Amino acid sequence: MRNLLLLPLTLVIATPVWADETTDRLAEIAHFFQDATVLNGPLVVDCTLSGGTQTTCFSITVKAEPQAYQPGPWCPTSITDTADAGGIWLQDGVAHDVDGDFIANLSTFYSDDGWQLYDPETGEVRVTDTQTSCEAAARPDVDPEYNNYCVQCLPEYMDDDASMTYVIPLYPQEADEPNPPNFSGAGIAFNGVRLDGPAPVADILAAHTVAPFDDCGGHVNTHVGYHYHAVTDCLDDSPVSAADAPQIGIAMDGHAIYTALLVDGTAPVGLDQCNGHFDETLGYHYHAGEAGSNAILPCLTAQAGCASEEAGQTCDASARPPRP
Ligand SMILES: [Zn+2]
Ligand SMILES: [Zn+2]
Repeated sequence: MRNLLLLPLTLVIATPVWADETTDRLAEIAHFFQDATVLNGPLVVDCTLSGGTQTTCFSITVKAEPQAYQPGPWCPTSITDTADAGGIWLQDGVAHDVDGDFIANLSTFYSDDGWQLYDPETGEVRVTDTQTSCEAAARPDVDPEYNNYCVQCLPEYMDDDASMTYVIPLYPQEADEPNPPNFSGAGIAFNGVRLDGPAPVADILAAHTVAPFDDCGGHVNTHVGYHYHAVTDCLDDSPVSAADAPQIGIAMDGHAIYTALLVDGTAPVGLDQCNGHFDETLGYHYHAGEAGSNAILPCLTAQAGCASEEAGQTCDASARPPRP
């Protein structure tokens, strides 16, 4: 008799109200990443966010390989090359084509005679064309041997099983103050590519190197693979759109990220210091910075989750020291 009485109660406990909501949210997230190369997830996991809040996150493991296009090119090979042969470089809010002219004119562009990125006899551009040279040149303290190089790492330098796992709150949790996206990056694009924090342009330029992004705003480092420092129209074709803008990604704090401009070509109004604002339909959300800004998001307003090259880790974003 007692068991019979307990039975309905057990059923009620097994399907609490939040379960439906979580299932719906997870289905939304799976739909958003339908064009990504997903190795695992999205799954619901426990997590500790950057501000110490323990909550529920989704975890998704992806390969940084966009399905809609082939990443590259980055560095042109000759100072006579046209823009097709190279990517872009961001300076003073503008995305410049890295073509042969750009390489040839760097000393004028930066008013610094120390630039010599090409062989003056042949016009050949000095490109880091091996994994060893790209890793040495991409270090924060650039190997002096690779001063005056156009720096590129190729996707094929990545291990076949390289992946990134993102653990992001299902629902954003308030932070005491906005934080720079310095450790985990800004977020993840719908195609599974990391939306990174700003590229360390000052360090790169100090070594008389440029590390171009392809026309989609991405380049490769051998830790996280292909990742974006700028959002361009390559991400316009999202599976999820609001009335006035496509959603290009999910930020590490769980808020949605939309394109820099609205579909009518106007800029969103009333953005805060992190490029976020509130509207009745979408709630609080971000708009990516303009491609030339070198800041997809200048900061995150809520607590960030984790991004890791290793799958299956428990996320404790509060335990991580800020990246220098
Ligand atoms: Zn980078
Ligand atoms: Zn908006």
